[in-house]
Amino acid sequence: MQPRDETIAARLGAVRERIAEACRRAGRGTDEVTLLAVSKTQPAEALREAWEAGQRAFGESYLQEALDKIEALRGLTGVEWHFIGPLQSNKTRRIAGNFQWVHGVDRLKVARRLSEQRPEGLPPLSVCIQVNTSGEASKAGVHPEELPALAEAVAELPRLHLRGLMTIPAPASTLEAQRRPFRLLRRLLEALQERGLPLDTLSMGMSGDLEAAILEGATLVRVGTAIFGPRRAPGGDP
Ligand SMILES: *Cc1c(COP(=O)(O)O)cnc(C)c1O
Repeated sequence: MQPRDETIAARLGAVRERIAEACRRAGRGTDEVTLLAVSKTQPAEALREAWEAGQRAFGESYLQEALDKIEALRGLTGVEWHFIGPLQSNKTRRIAGNFQWVHGVDRLKVARRLSEQRPEGLPPLSVCIQVNTSGEASKAGVHPEELPALAEAVAELPRLHLRGLMTIPAPASTLEAQRRPFRLLRRLLEALQERGLPLDTLSMGMSGDLEAAILEGATLVRVGTAIFGPRRAPGGDP
């Protein structure tokens, strides 16, 4: 038997407590922050355990593995699937047909495909634009200078609902260094709101830096290892 503090339900409770504490520090309401449970590489049984403990939003990065879990967990009510992995053109059709959210949009070509391929019977697909806030050449995400033009173009696409911005900063060890890229993302969101775009989402913060993200205004934190423990090797197509 697992010790009680190592069950998924117990770790989920501890993460919710971290979120609540960060919200108190930030003077924000706990209901302003959604917890996305990042379940990539975890078996369907682990997601079921989290669902039984009240978790509803799940984030996946590997498409085939995600589709298998979506199929396996069809019977669970109220589940919301978020695709948070890199976007390739040959995967957009299956993403548009099976997920409610996509967090990593960083070019117009992929956004257009998602919009064209979103099935008619479903509501528009919620998307976030991924921004490179660390300035590293290797990192995914649109450069801040190119963001306004991309955001305005994505907002026009009929079958997408542009919700906000997402970032994955380079790891940093101090709270102040962690906060810097998140502050930049918040300012970029505010600038887009001032241009008239009705955005409501800042997708930022993971297991190691969710406090910094909440202090800077995160509305959705993406947390994997703190809930599920270490990841396995990815299943399906990486
Ligand atoms: C894996 C992943 C996470 C979760 O990371 P943890 O450090 O395990 O919490 C969050 N966001 C994205 C985009 C990821 O790929």
